[in-house]
Amino acid sequence: MAKPNKNEIIKSLTLQKEIFGDELFIPKRNRNLSVVKEPTSLFEEPALFAEEKEEWEKTSSLDELEKIICDCTKCRLHQGRNKFVFGTGNPNADVLVIGEGPGAEEDKQGLPFVGRAGQLLTDMLRAIKFERGEVYIGNVVKCRPPENRTPLPDEMETCMPYLKKQVELIKPKLILCLGLTAAKGLLKKRESLGDLRGKVFEYEGAKVMVTYHSAALLRNPHWKKDCWEDLKKFRKLYEELVR
Ligand code: URA
Repeated sequence: MAKPNKNEIIKSLTLQKEIFGDELFIPKRNRNLSVVKEPTSLFEEPALFAEEKEEWEKTSSLDELEKIICDCTKCRLHQGRNKFVFGTGNPNADVLVIGEGPGAEEDKQGLPFVGRAGQLLTDMLRAIKFERGEVYIGNVVKCRPPENRTPLPDEMETCMPYLKKQVELIKPKLILCLGLTAAKGLLKKRESLGDLRGKVFEYEGAKVMVTYHSAALLRNPHWKKDCWEDLKKFRKLYEELVR
């Protein structure tokens, strides 16, 4: 690569001074000043601002991703973790189902939705002609919150990039969010579950619908009727998009 000439070095340092003041900033990725190229379009990130990617971000399969992130200590939830619950199912699924976070049984087994709420989820999926192994099942947070409390906003924010990466690798056509925590985490919406149900949203190229969490249905069986309506709509959307 050609060495930068004096004028280019002065131009680059002047630009840095304008942006960062007197602090000298050398991009981590390439300490050769000649990489500070002009952006070719308004929205292209100049190398100067590019963050070094973490290893897990560079992965190209779910197995590889799981291997790297399963010892994660980025948030406090790792402290009470027995097992990291990455997610399970068909890595090429058209349908991704997202819950809140592992409960006691999930934390013990390292698998999502294996307790009572999981059994009900299996039945809900069967009711709309999906087998568990055909879809992919994951959670917004991958470690069990203490006493099964709702994950805190900073815990969700820390863990969401992993779910986003899973979506990028699986490329589902449809996503079903179970409960408000999943919907909030994914869609960043502030509306109530009642307002989100029945609508179709978009996330990274996938159509997203929201319904009740199966654990909530165990506590409030009278919500099952409305949930059944949501599930039928979800199946109809699947038929339109995938069949
Ligand atoms: N509830 C969830 O949200 N996820 C699980 O994996 C189990 C129960």
